Amino acid sequence: MNSDYKDSYIIEGKLALPYQYFAGLTGSRFIRKLRDEKTICGLKCTTCNHVFIPPRSTCDRCYSPISDNWVTLKNTGTVTCFTVIRYEEPYQPIKPPYILGLIKLDGADSGLCHIVKGIAISEMKTGLRVQAVFAKKTTSTIMDIDYFKVIKPKFEIGYTYDQLEIGMSASFSKTISESDVYQFAGISGDFNPLHMNEEYAKTTVFGKRIAHGALPQSLIAPVLGMKLPGLGTMAVEINTRFKAPTYFGDTVTATGEIIEKIEKKRWVKMALTWTNQKGELIGEGTAIVIPPEPPKETCLEP
Ligand SMILES: [Zn+2]
Repeated sequence: MNSDYKDSYIIEGKLALPYQYFAGLTGSRFIRKLRDEKTICGLKCTTCNHVFIPPRSTCDRCYSPISDNWVTLKNTGTVTCFTVIRYEEPYQPIKPPYILGLIKLDGADSGLCHIVKGIAISEMKTGLRVQAVFAKKTTSTIMDIDYFKVIKPKFEIGYTYDQLEIGMSASFSKTISESDVYQFAGISGDFNPLHMNEEYAKTTVFGKRIAHGALPQSLIAPVLGMKLPGLGTMAVEINTRFKAPTYFGDTVTATGEIIEKIEKKRWVKMALTWTNQKGELIGEGTAIVIPPEPPKETCLEP
């Protein structure tokens, strides 16, 4: 088969194809508003109330003609999905790599595809708030919006309900020292000789001192409150069944995994496990938590 191509003679060439087309009444008005008034407009269906951006003359949900019902949208929105362009082609508006996001503008029901800047590619995630930055020079195209800039929250928060998925998990590990146990006794007021007095502990089934159960148990707090869902999370319920003791010097790993999304309340249920450095299960349970809410506009700085 290869021999067929072996002696092929390749002729290099170029094909230039300049062309024009009419953007249509709806498209033209959209571009004029963008160019002359720096305003992003959409079309609202009076029958089903769906707001389209980019605008279209017929509702694709109920087929009503909607070409006259223009609404002005905000310059801000939320990234609902995104991709990273890494290959280079001559027609691209900017040099790769760059982020292309589907942006649901505030007040719109459909998404506008555009460049997202102001964030490292590795940090990019859905749900981020963005604001349109208009180009200084007009091109009478959608590129009159230069790009959408990520608006950073004043306060960092963890995963919101919509960002959480079943199967996501996170862990936290810590070595429990004698000092930790002594401080925990002070905090809780529990000076049980089982934790405090080695000679007494020798007489028990454990043969040596053990940590308060609530001490390794508390290591789930940094998981829930700082990792998953993360900063801003509120715990509603934490159930624990202790399976084995924690001795001084043991390294405990607390793990939480999302097992259920409680749609009605926008809460999540998590399976919890605690293991030691030998991989032994020292505790297991469940938690119900309220993930942080998406930041309000007042909590954002442009
Ligand atoms: Zn409609």
